[in-house]
Amino acid sequence: MAKLAELIETLERAYPPRLAESWDSVGLVCGDPGEDVRRVLFAVDVTEAVVEEAVSWGAQALVAHHPLLLRGVDSVAADRPKGALIHRLVRAGCALFTAHTNADSADPGVSDALAAVLGLTVTGPIEPKPVPAVDKWSIQVPVDHAESVLAALFAVGAGGSGDYREAAWRTTGTGQFRPLNGANPAVGTVGELTRVSEDRIEVVAAPRDRATILAALRAAHPYEEPAYHVTERAQLSGNLGLGRVATLPEPLTLREFTARAAAALPETAWGVRCAGDPDRVLRRVAVCGGAGDSLLDAVTRLGVDAYLTADLRHHPADEHLRRSGPALIDAAHWATEFPWCAQAAEVVQTGLPEVETRVSGVRTDPWTVGSAG
Ligand SMILES: [Zn+2]
Repeated sequence: MAKLAELIETLERAYPPRLAESWDSVGLVCGDPGEDVRRVLFAVDVTEAVVEEAVSWGAQALVAHHPLLLRGVDSVAADRPKGALIHRLVRAGCALFTAHTNADSADPGVSDALAAVLGLTVTGPIEPKPVPAVDKWSIQVPVDHAESVLAALFAVGAGGSGDYREAAWRTTGTGQFRPLNGANPAVGTVGELTRVSEDRIEVVAAPRDRATILAALRAAHPYEEPAYHVTERAQLSGNLGLGRVATLPEPLTLREFTARAAAALPETAWGVRCAGDPDRVLRRVAVCGGAGDSLLDAVTRLGVDAYLTADLRHHPADEHLRRSGPALIDAAHWATEFPWCAQAAEVVQTGLPEVETRVSGVRTDPWTVGSAG
């Protein structure tokens, strides 16, 4: 049987909290990490109906995409709507955990799940988060001192890369120098050209550790003037970030792709609508689960044929189309994020096979009636 702490660890490995936007609130809302978890329910929103489903199914945890408590909260009294839900969950022994913008930017994340149900092949984020810069240190050291210098560098954090430690590359060559008057060489004699068998050690390190690494290098290196240089690797864009750019398996018109989205996404009163020439042929599209109008400029720069997201407002959409940007496809916010629930459930099934998972069947889209007449 799994503990709630293990569920949290599993989810945070897939959706690291550090990826959340600064204004967001993610993680454990209520629940005791030391308690057992046998059943976990997944939903986009924490509504009364979803909480009832969690409690009546006997779930020990509810995992939701949207935070229940986002802005400053000074009371969870049971006579307030959100406080009542917290009370209901706590009394039933059901924890609440949310993964919001961290799930949006993760790889795979919310927009990957959306792209997958639409039958798209993802090529990368709309707005990639830059991969942090990395220093590469190249150090020449006499062969018999290579191990001790390497150990000193590792001790201050150099040589770490992702899930790896003590990573380095070494090659042996010949170094040369002629010490001048005033020098106090560890090897060789003043005035004479000296050749030494040296190892070149290459390690990566965080730029913030430069001073510490240089101090450790000077302390461990036998030379009066250690031979080294540092280069900074350019910031590259990674696979993390908001939205996804994707390709269609075969070209479709905007009208056809809109119909495909309506068929693939769960039904809502809002439906799926598009803006732009219905006969425009789409090959490359961008998608963003949830409210995506902040990415309108980014998708225009990417030159995609269409952009599918939710909560597009009149003026931004109108202005965007006047600038001949990609065609727009607007779906219900809940519908674009719902596919994530199955993705998150799979994360838990894979990481904690003893836990039973279920995606809530409750449609939490706030709009209940659509009328085109
Ligand atoms: Zn959302």
